[in-house]
Amino acid sequence: MAAENLAVSRETFDNVILPVYAPAQFVPVKGKGSRVWDQQGKEYIDFSGGIAVTALGHCHPALVETLKSQGETLWHTSNVFTNEPALRLASKLIAATFAERVFFGNSGAEANEAAFKLARYYACKKHSPFKSKIIAFHNAFHGRTLFTVSVGGQPKYSDGFGPKPADIVHVPFNDLAAVKAVIDDHTCAIVVEPIQGEGGVMPATPEFIQGLRALCDQHNALLVLDEVQSGMGRSGKLFAYEHYGIKPDIITTAKALGGGFPVSAMLTTHEIASVMAPGVHGTTYGGNPLACAIAETALDIINTPEVLNGVDARREQFVSALQKINQQFDIFSEIRGKGLLLGAVLNAQHASKARDILNASAAEGLMVLTAGSDVIRFVPSLVIEPTDIAEGMARFARAIAKVLN
Ligand SMILES: *Cc1c(COP(=O)(O)O)cnc(C)c1O
Repeated sequence: MAAENLAVSRETFDNVILPVYAPAQFVPVKGKGSRVWDQQGKEYIDFSGGIAVTALGHCHPALVETLKSQGETLWHTSNVFTNEPALRLASKLIAATFAERVFFGNSGAEANEAAFKLARYYACKKHSPFKSKIIAFHNAFHGRTLFTVSVGGQPKYSDGFGPKPADIVHVPFNDLAAVKAVIDDHTCAIVVEPIQGEGGVMPATPEFIQGLRALCDQHNALLVLDEVQSGMGRSGKLFAYEHYGIKPDIITTAKALGGGFPVSAMLTTHEIASVMAPGVHGTTYGGNPLACAIAETALDIINTPEVLNGVDARREQFVSALQKINQQFDIFSEIRGKGLLLGAVLNAQHASKARDILNASAAEGLMVLTAGSDVIRFVPSLVIEPTDIAEGMARFARAIAKVLN
C-alpha cells in the first residue's frame, strides 16, 4: 500500500524539523535540468545546485536511468560483502586521479572524518603517537561531526558541544608564513580546501598550495585537500588540485559525486592506505551499490571534455552578467572563485545584505546561495543551459533592484 499523502507545507517545517535550518519560504516539489517548481507551481531557475551537488541538473536522464536499473537490481549489501558498482567507481576514480585507494562514505563530513583519522593513524603507525597536530585554516568548513567542526574551527559551529578533539591549530588562509610558524615534526597533516566554499568562495593561491606541499614534505606531514565542494568538475577540472601542479596525499569528495544521491569518497595512495587493516575504520552504508552506480554514471558524464570544457564558458557568462549588474547598481567589490564555484562579494556599502538578496531572488524565481553575510554564491549545474543563465541573471537583477530600493 502506498504511503498516505499527508498535506504538508513550509509551516510544517517549524513544527516537525529540528530547528537547525532556516529554509526559504517555498517548498520545491519538482526539478528538471536547472528549473525547479514549488508547491504552488511557481518556477525557479536554480543557481544553487543543492549546494554544489546537482552538477548535472535535476533528474538528469542518465542518472534517473541508473537509479531505476540499479534500484531494481541491488541496493545494499554492507561492507561484509563487496559489490560491482563500488569496485567500478573506485577503479574509475583511481584512473582519473593521483590516487590508488578509495574509501566510500555517505557525506562530506564522513569522508573528511575518514581522512583526518587516516592522517593521524598513519603518523601514529609510521612515526610516533605524538605526531598528531593538524594545521587547518580560519573560515574553513569540513563538515559537522565533532572532529570535522573542530578542524573547521569556526566557533559558531564548534562551541557548546563539550571538549573538542585536541591538537588542531588554525592559521589564516593563503598565509604561508603563518603555517611556517606553527608547523613542526609533530604535525601529521595540513587540511585545506583548494577553494574555500562556505567560508566565502576564496581560492587558494598557487604559491600557497605549492608552499603547503613543500612544508608537508619537509615535516613528513600529509597534505589533505578537502574537495567536497571543489571536486567533480566544479572548478573546470575534475579536481581542483589539478590547477596547482601538485600531488596531494589525500583528497575527499562528496557533494557532486552522486549528482544528488548521497555518497562520498576519500582518495589516497597505496603507501598511506597500507597502515589500515580490517576493523580500523568503517561504515554500514558507505560504498553501497545504489549510490556507487549513480556516482559512476555521474563521473562518466562529468569527466569528459564536453562537460569540463563547458565550465569555463558558463563561468564567463556568469561573470559578464554580474559585471553588467554591477555597472548598474555598484553593489559588488569583487567576483571571485574558480569555474562554476562563483562568489559575488558585496561591497562595504551593501555588506550583510546577502540573505536579503537570497530572499528577494527567491521571490523573483531564482535560487541562489550565500557564503557568509556578504557573499552571494553561485554553484549551478555544470551543464546549465546558457538561456537559463541569461534568464536567471535577469531575475537576479530584478531582485537586486528591489533590495536596493
Ligand atoms: C559541504 C562541505 C562539507 C560537508 O559535507 P556534508 O555532506 O554536509 O557532510 C565538507 N567540506 C566542504 C569543503 C564542504 O563544502
